[in-house]
Amino acid sequence: MASLGAVTAREVAMAESQGPTPLSDERLRGEVRAFLHEQADAGEFVPRCDNWMSGFDPAFSARLGDRGWVGMAIPVEYGGQGLSPLDRVVVAEELLAHGAPVAAHWIADRQMAPSLLAHGSDDQKKRYLPGIASGTTYFAIGMSEPDAGSDLAGVRTRAVDTGDGWELTGTKVWTTGAHLAHAMVVLARTDGSPTDRHAGLSQFVVDLPNAGIEIRPIRSIDGSAHFNEVIFHKARLERSALLGTRGDGWKQVMSELAWERSGPERYLSTMPLLRAWADRLRDRGATDGQRRTLGELTARAWTLREMSLNVARELSAGRRPDVAAAMVKDLGSTFEGDLVDEIRQSSSSSARIGSGDPFASMLADAVLHTPAFTLRGGTNEILRSIVGRGLET
Ligand SMILES: Cc1cc2nc3c(=O)[nH]c(=O)nc-3n(C[C@H](O)[C@H](O)[C@H](O)COP(=O)(O)OP(=O)(O)OC[C@H]3O[C@@H](n4cnc5c(N)ncnc54)[C@H](O)[C@@H]3O)c2cc1C
Repeated sequence: MASLGAVTAREVAMAESQGPTPLSDERLRGEVRAFLHEQADAGEFVPRCDNWMSGFDPAFSARLGDRGWVGMAIPVEYGGQGLSPLDRVVVAEELLAHGAPVAAHWIADRQMAPSLLAHGSDDQKKRYLPGIASGTTYFAIGMSEPDAGSDLAGVRTRAVDTGDGWELTGTKVWTTGAHLAHAMVVLARTDGSPTDRHAGLSQFVVDLPNAGIEIRPIRSIDGSAHFNEVIFHKARLERSALLGTRGDGWKQVMSELAWERSGPERYLSTMPLLRAWADRLRDRGATDGQRRTLGELTARAWTLREMSLNVARELSAGRRPDVAAAMVKDLGSTFEGDLVDEIRQSSSSSARIGSGDPFASMLADAVLHTPAFTLRGGTNEILRSIVGRGLET
């Protein structure tokens, strides 16, 4: 086995002696790693970049649920483990770094569980949380619309109060996993007009499928269709579908976005590629330039991890670190793309989907996913304006 060189070996030894920043019970990390190695060795999954968004594998999600690694912060009375959100981060880091196929349950676990716990009625908690915790209930996010992406307050989807329920009309777009989800949380206008902006918006938990809801696939550049256009044709909802308080939709959606934007998936989507490249260099030998690139990428990842953990700790303590979360997502999603570009330039393999070389295939896959990194969950321009405004105050 070729050496990576004195400098890198020393850095690796230093990093190992310091160990990862302890988050919670780090024994959990060892258990998750052992499970993932066993699953990958048994061919239960092939590590891929961005598999938290496109790796839909219900059986794998259910296996994680069986081990108590989904919905970990959900209270025991609703089927969860009653642990801290920081325990969830330990598991999330390992799943992401190993490129595990977790898309089926990811949105439900990451943001719908905290949202339901914060704003849901007791009936909604009983109805959805046990399925989320077992990794068998999937959710989609119904925020963006054709004319309301960055400018989310401009949503036009309207929910009319019919007395015994609600009637939903409008169009959502880029709705990840809506074709596979059991429910989606929809941001809609219940009162006033789009010019009222933040006032008059409400959230709804909408069960799928629904006879009044049409879900059309949107293909991405790799030909896959993991997101959709969702059209509400006067879709009928039960009265109990309202999530939280009528008119508080904007406030609720902002706290949901804090969970959406702050997780480790905002800098770890392409970590499987870095790991695969490091293994390749270790096996085949590395040039000085490749060692430097590997060291620089590793150092950036390490710094981002420390920043991301601080955001997780703040959120877990019940605070709203919006500015720090926006900064980590901006830097993190830029890093995810830079990692792909730099490895592509530095490695001697050409990226090719379906190539017999798993590294070349993983690289090609990562290249095709890169354009989405700085768009989803809020674009980098919008995140930078949040940071800019936050630094002014
Ligand atoms: C892979 C993927 C998955 C997604 N999944 C979901 C999902 O599940 N649910 C959901 O609701 N949405 C989802 N989205 C949508 C995502 O949230 C939006 O794409 C994003 O918020 C940007 O909105 P937009 O596409 O309408 O672009 P626009 O808002 O039209 O922006 C276009 C460009 O203009 C820039 N811009 C806009 N306003 C400003 C400004 N004020 N200052 C500076 N620059 C500005 C933007 O930064 C961007 O570069 C997903 C997107 C992607 C790529």
